[in-house]
Amino acid sequence: MEKPKDFIREIIEEDLREKRYGKVVTRFPPEPNGYLHIGHAKSIYLNFGIAQEYGGSCNLRMDDTDPEGEKEEYVKAIIEDVKWLGFDFGEKVFFASDYFDKLYEFAVELIKKGKAYVCHLSPEEIKAYRGSFTEAGKESPYRNRSVEENLQLFEKMKNGEFEEGSCVLRAKIDMKSPNLVMRDPVIYRIKKTPHYRTKEKWKIYPMYDFAHPLSDALEGVTHSICTLEFENNRPLYDWFIEELVPSKERPKQIEFARLNLSHTVLSKRLLSILVEKKIVDGWDDPRMPTLAGLRRRGYTPDAIKEFLRRIGVARNENLIDISLLEHCVREDLDWKAPRIMAVLRPIEVIIENYPPGKVEIIECPNHPKRPEMGKREVLFGREILIEEDDFSENPPEGYKRLTPKNHVRLRYAYRIKCKEIIKDASGKVVKLICTYDPDSIKEGNKVKEGVIHWLGKENAVASEVRLYDRLFLVPDPASYGDDFIKYVNPKSREILFPSYVEKRILNEEPGSVFQFERIGYFCIDSKDSKKERPVFNLIVPLKDSYGKK
Ligand code: ATP
Ligand code: MG
Repeated sequence: MEKPKDFIREIIEEDLREKRYGKVVTRFPPEPNGYLHIGHAKSIYLNFGIAQEYGGSCNLRMDDTDPEGEKEEYVKAIIEDVKWLGFDFGEKVFFASDYFDKLYEFAVELIKKGKAYVCHLSPEEIKAYRGSFTEAGKESPYRNRSVEENLQLFEKMKNGEFEEGSCVLRAKIDMKSPNLVMRDPVIYRIKKTPHYRTKEKWKIYPMYDFAHPLSDALEGVTHSICTLEFENNRPLYDWFIEELVPSKERPKQIEFARLNLSHTVLSKRLLSILVEKKIVDGWDDPRMPTLAGLRRRGYTPDAIKEFLRRIGVARNENLIDISLLEHCVREDLDWKAPRIMAVLRPIEVIIENYPPGKVEIIECPNHPKRPEMGKREVLFGREILIEEDDFSENPPEGYKRLTPKNHVRLRYAYRIKCKEIIKDASGKVVKLICTYDPDSIKEGNKVKEGVIHWLGKENAVASEVRLYDRLFLVPDPASYGDDFIKYVNPKSREILFPSYVEKRILNEEPGSVFQFERIGYFCIDSKDSKKERPVFNLIVPLKDSYGKK
């Protein structure tokens, strides 16, 4: 595979040429407050990919400095997802919460340098004092208290002697800076919520802008790659490092455009709303763009990585059409997936002139282009099932499948003709009486005629099939803010039962992927599938037919 080339790799190559760093160290820093989605995969692929290409390393760091919403469950899921994508983060997982003592000392050091102060303005006041793009900020009345007093107050904050929200620690930088981020940002706030790892130990927690650069520096990160919304924060990132851990090999922040994918949302906050409102069945619902959802759906790491390779990395934001991801999945599975036959919406066919009780074994290739994948046996008998829409009583023009007039070829087997149509009370076709041509099997599929898939009754296992369409009806649901929920596709999932699948699937593991011939790619659901009732997820249809029904 071609090596990726982009502006970040150019920066790194120049840094290495100029010997600014000995070894490249990157990091992927998720907050364990939700499951990873395919947007995170872009960052993982970039950070771990760069580490691999330049003989460096990439740290997996839980950015767990805010006790609200962080959980061990998410830590486990994040580790599983990164491994599943096939990336190696070495022996150990890093946790920003392991640096709480160190970060506290850094804050004390800033106070001692006269560069941080405890401020009692309310959050609203802090905001008002900050000013705007056109207006300089106003200094807090607490800005010039003594180092001694600040040290005592900060210690009290730490010991839980103040109420939440009653004061914060702020960096003393420049209230007139044209960059609002530099106008005395908050670096510590009081929170009495217990932390999932440090429990009750801390009553104060560092802000992201403070904890992040210092965690990078403590780990010897050289290139701290993040999304564009942090561009304005870069001077602050540099300021903390300059003040507290200046060194020759200091980390450098580089921003790139986040992944936006059509017909879905890539934000943990919005995804968690879908989970909480039970619009989907949890974070690993196969309709979710989470890595857990995509995995359960049957997407492969190779397909996801190929997608990420194709979209590349740049500095301008855009909305990538989800059909590109689906295309990569189709391409990957076309090569990998063994073929089987399945009938999703069955009608029964009785082959009148086939001897009762006779069952024939027919050998079919597992993959048309890969003989090394071997063959399988399918069973043909007097009763078979075909797909509802492979028969038409009043066919539209150009219809090549079975009609009262047209014969059709059963794939790998015989030609059949329809003699009689049996309908239920509502007029729906439920059964066809057909005849077959015993010599037609020898002709193979060379004859020009319609070919349909089928299943012999002896070979068919009743299964549940879950069909999926796009989760949202509009390309960019996140652009509607919290109204995004109104654009959920009410038909994003359709459950069929009983559909029928070749019996051989009973020996296959959950997660196994197949091509159902003429239909699409499906996998055995890893959570709900049972021997008594196998469950299949649609991964992608053979052709791009989403939203066209
Ligand atoms: P979300 O918006 O989903 O809550 P986040 O940025 O708050 O995402 P983090 O756990 O902080 O979630 O993300 C970890 C890393 O993944 C960050 O470095 C972030 O820049 C990156 N990341 C998050 N979303 C995307 C995306 N859509 N495309 C590329 N990188 C992303
Ligand atoms: Mg974040």
